[in-house]
Amino acid sequence: MKHVIIVRYAEIFLKGKNRGYFERVFVMNMEKALRGIRHEIRRASGRYLVEGFDEEQTEEVVSRLRKVFGTHSLSVAYVVPSEREEIVAAAKLVCRPQGTFKVETHRADKTYPMNSMEFSAWLGGELLEAYPHLRVDVHAPQFTVYADIRENGVTMLFSEFLPGAGGMPVGTAGKGLLLISGGIDSPVAGHMIAKRGMKLSCLHFHSYPYTNPQALEKVKDLVRELTPYNGGDTKMYVVKVTHIQESIHKHCAEEYMVTLLRRFMMRIAERVALREGYQCLITGESLGQVASQTIEGMTSSNAVIESLPVLRPLCGFDKNEIIERSRAIGTYDTSILPYEDCCTVFLPKFPVTKPKMQDVLAEEGKLDVEGLIAEAMESMEILEL
Ligand code: ATP
Ligand code: MG
Repeated sequence: MKHVIIVRYAEIFLKGKNRGYFERVFVMNMEKALRGIRHEIRRASGRYLVEGFDEEQTEEVVSRLRKVFGTHSLSVAYVVPSEREEIVAAAKLVCRPQGTFKVETHRADKTYPMNSMEFSAWLGGELLEAYPHLRVDVHAPQFTVYADIRENGVTMLFSEFLPGAGGMPVGTAGKGLLLISGGIDSPVAGHMIAKRGMKLSCLHFHSYPYTNPQALEKVKDLVRELTPYNGGDTKMYVVKVTHIQESIHKHCAEEYMVTLLRRFMMRIAERVALREGYQCLITGESLGQVASQTIEGMTSSNAVIESLPVLRPLCGFDKNEIIERSRAIGTYDTSILPYEDCCTVFLPKFPVTKPKMQDVLAEEGKLDVEGLIAEAMESMEILEL
């Protein structure tokens, strides 16, 4: 029996004039998500049908499509000729053998001999006969068997609406550069912005040999875990800030380590973004979460940014809300692997929590800021993940 996945899209339909463009990007992202699996994607009255894959791959296809932003919901359906025996056979497959249920019919083919009500009553009766432990409950059924009688002489039967990822197709809202550490927060921040349709690239700072190569591998894994949400490929920039940290450590008051490092990170990030065509920076900062994320800390790191907006989607989130999201998107287990981040190298016992700008500038004045940035930029590697 032929099976298909019905993909219903989310907000895209809101986009009047640009709808065609949004839909093209959406289909392209679905195609990329299904790379390596034989399939076809067809448009069918306000949704898409994915078909032509082996039935054993259904679960894999569904799980990949559920990470494509723009998807409102999905259903795995059987498609049969609109003949009674075939409809009943397919309905039996999607129906559970017991519990309370109803049949809901949508009839696009207005020439079909029964109307929707008659069809639902008839098919419900057939199912009751097939499964004696079923009961009908039209008001609060435990499950519903949906029948969709199409114009082209076929009927689709399914019983579940699986929630999709929501959001907008990645690539329709510009390009952003995510500052990604090995922590829990930044992958979640990236996921939230990709959800709104922004294509992400990632920038990671490491402090080799103080941070070990496995720490970098962990961040690459996080980027790989984000990639299915990010249109199937993600560029990653890796910059070494070892010498910057050593210089801060050597020349500046120790409580300014993180504050100063943050300013270097933001400067480098903005330069990478401007050079490579990204339209904003994205961080995983959350107000007040740690010493460097007070409003004074953010003021200090934000002050070096010259032209790009910095998106901080987690600003209003509690840690446990962030953890919940991180679990849901699947990055949590990697995030909690115990490797050092460069921010933990030379970590002062008492970092300043409310840095005053004049003190920050005085400490920073002891460094060759431009020279250090240029040297770090020289170390940049670009990976495709
Ligand atoms: P995360 O869980 O994302 O590591 P965090 O709560 O540990 O966040 P910080 O370490 O203060 O917070 O980092 C704040 C933000 O700065 C991060 O969310 C990330 O966007 C950026 N950042 C921190 N360290 C790095 C790094 N090594 N490379 C790139 N960006 C970083
Ligand atoms: Mg961190």
